Amino acid sequence: MPKPLVMDRTTAFFKKHLETMPPKKRLEYLNQKLRGTIQYAYKNSVAFKKTMDSVGLKPKDIQTTKDLEKIPMTEKADLMELQKKNLPFGGFEGVPLQKLRRIYVSPGPLYEPGEADYDELGWVQGMVAGGFRPGDIVINTYSYHMVPFALQMIDNSLHRIGCVTIPAGTGNTEQQVNILRKFRATGYCGTPSFLLNIAEKAEEMGLDLRKDLNLKVGCVATEMLPESLRSKLEQKFEMVIRQGYGTADIGCLGYECLEKNGMHVPDDKIVEIVDPSTGKQVGPGKAGEIVATTFNKVYPLIRFGTGDLSILTETACPCGRTSPRLVKILGRVDQATKVRGLFIHPGQADEVASKHPQISRVRVVVTRKEHKDEMTFQVELKEEVSQPEKLKSEIEQSIRDVMKLRGGVQFVLKGAIPEGANKIEDQRTWE
Ligand SMILES: [Zn+2]
Repeated sequence: MPKPLVMDRTTAFFKKHLETMPPKKRLEYLNQKLRGTIQYAYKNSVAFKKTMDSVGLKPKDIQTTKDLEKIPMTEKADLMELQKKNLPFGGFEGVPLQKLRRIYVSPGPLYEPGEADYDELGWVQGMVAGGFRPGDIVINTYSYHMVPFALQMIDNSLHRIGCVTIPAGTGNTEQQVNILRKFRATGYCGTPSFLLNIAEKAEEMGLDLRKDLNLKVGCVATEMLPESLRSKLEQKFEMVIRQGYGTADIGCLGYECLEKNGMHVPDDKIVEIVDPSTGKQVGPGKAGEIVATTFNKVYPLIRFGTGDLSILTETACPCGRTSPRLVKILGRVDQATKVRGLFIHPGQADEVASKHPQISRVRVVVTRKEHKDEMTFQVELKEEVSQPEKLKSEIEQSIRDVMKLRGGVQFVLKGAIPEGANKIEDQRTWE
């Protein structure tokens, strides 16, 4: 059995000179990388050249991250559509097929040109920020088949840190517990829900999670991580769990540091937050769609619309990293809408609900009466309250605080809001 190493897991960096650049220098750095990427992609990616030509743009028109607004966004649906017409990659690849190292197949199906000489930065930066260190023995429980995440993004990143990887893949929980135990593995990569499965299985097997297992750090992704689940797992295993956010197409777009106050944007991507209806950048502190540009020349996706909603903050982080941070993921674009000209999203409904512990479920219903938008919060309560009118006006006040809009509250019976219903239901009809 390997002898456990004692490691310093306090703040550390993977590329300190990049991660701690002063904001002005960061902007110059990103603009320079962007110009190179645009020129390269225009010359080598048929699909990107078409996008630029469609609006009469030349590479010289894109000098800064602000200029990105001029380029039409590419959504996942566009990738699939163009791939059907122009197999296998829809012209998005930046190198000839024969030069690729791998070809990935994601659900859809969507074909992705795999790395030739490109090493993604985001996941490595995220794991180091979250406490992964050389010599860690790490179980990687993501699926290695077909998709790029486990192999290209996670496994490759662990290797670059100097960790020892056990490519465990998905499922077979009991075997995973035995592996963790035998090797005294210190790191976990996978979904939070699978880590919970592992905890439950190990307990069922009569093991002490802290003594018989030796997990110290976890990097979780691809699922929402509720704070309650994070703290439950951190306590059970006595470990530190940090999350990353990204997509299979473009890679990591945000990672948490030890401060746990949002997700730092990695230094090999440009992340914009835009109004989904206009594609224009909304600026820090405002909600919108996450749109990303990568410096990956093998697969140069530029202005890729993720369909996810978030807010970007540029306030200083005590960890010393100067990159902006995604505050959190607020839901999907197709679940957001505009009410009286203001953009509303599912994250706001959750925020209002979180201010009132009496609430068990909410749904925002948007209707239109005499040419005016109306917004009603349907609220299910955990149990009856003694002063419903008082609670109603308190919730209405929270709606004004959070959404900057006036909205009514309607108490509904338990079960009236179906499980898994959209947080925002737009019932407006337009004649
Ligand atoms: Zn930080």
